[in-house]
Amino acid sequence: MYYYDMGVLRNTLNEIKRQIEGWPYVVHYALKANGNPHLIKEIASSGIGADLVSGGELQAALEAGFKPDEMNFSGVGKTDWEIRLGLSYGIGSFNVESVPELEVINELAGEMDVTANVAIRVNPDIDAHTHKYITTGTAENKFGINLESLDDVVKKAIQLPNIHLKGLHFHIGSQITEMKPFVMLCDTVNALIDSYEQQGVHFEMMNVGGGLGIDYSSPDQHPLPDFKPYFDTFKNRLKLRPGQMLHFELGRAIVGMCGSLISRVVFVKQNRDKKFVILDAGMTDLIRPALYEARHEIQNLTSDNEKVELYDVVGPVCESSDTFARDCRLPLTRRGDLIAIRAAGAYGESMASTYNMRRLPGSVFAGE
Ligand SMILES: *Cc1c(COP(=O)(O)O)cnc(C)c1O
Repeated sequence: MYYYDMGVLRNTLNEIKRQIEGWPYVVHYALKANGNPHLIKEIASSGIGADLVSGGELQAALEAGFKPDEMNFSGVGKTDWEIRLGLSYGIGSFNVESVPELEVINELAGEMDVTANVAIRVNPDIDAHTHKYITTGTAENKFGINLESLDDVVKKAIQLPNIHLKGLHFHIGSQITEMKPFVMLCDTVNALIDSYEQQGVHFEMMNVGGGLGIDYSSPDQHPLPDFKPYFDTFKNRLKLRPGQMLHFELGRAIVGMCGSLISRVVFVKQNRDKKFVILDAGMTDLIRPALYEARHEIQNLTSDNEKVELYDVVGPVCESSDTFARDCRLPLTRRGDLIAIRAAGAYGESMASTYNMRRLPGSVFAGE
């Protein structure tokens, strides 16, 4: 099961609010990091907006109490029903990723006799120095519109009758812990604001996406992400125009630290010179280690044995990648012990599957 510490979540939300107070900044929560209804209700009640990537997320966000005009809808493959759903609620912005998408949104908005709020997602060709599966802002990946084509797309968006172009959108990757990529992003945004202003185009908002990382190795010592250097980077470097709003879309940084996956040891097994701790949780419950070679802090909650051993901690699923950690230092561990896999609140429960016909993990909440 997933265990969520609502105190950690609330501290995180309060810290974000503290950091952006007095600035023309709006923070959205990227629901794909964790769509657990209880969590997103708490996040919605804190007054931040929602970043969506599907019609299902839009419905979940409405049920949780997010306001439609504070919703952004991202994603390279929005289908017609999803676009219509967004239009029918008058969402804050579609983050448009291609010319065909722009044309379809215009057409569907025309049929419904409404105007679609749009931001154009730019691919700024910035390497976020993160795992290759979670870098999204370099020229070779599928997201956004390349800088060379941007002028044409902006002109087109301005001309289309049922499109209201609000601004530009960027999202360069995830689990970014150095500020350098965000500094580069600010420079790109500044250059684009300048260049469009010279052409007489004034944007009412800029959206710099999400991507701020968390400290997976020390969840207890460092439970809050480094929000201050992150927001300071934008405060110091980005030159917004009067009246212009800056939007952020954070996922992992909001929910990552509040969740742990709790699992029971099914067997401890010795193979030649390796010891394995085999859990009842597997990659179906938390796929990040298998998918991104991610490392999570692992703790034995029931053993405080002074003898420490090295174990490979694995799940029961029939895949070799179903491994949470290799050579993990744990106190002497036995069948029946409870194991916590920490900092698993983001991209954990939301990526769970029923592969091997396993049941989905449950969830419990502490600190209500
Ligand atoms: C996933 C995603 C986010 C959130 O990313 P995090 O790394 O979890 O902060 C923000 N914006 C868009 C467009 C996304 O796809």
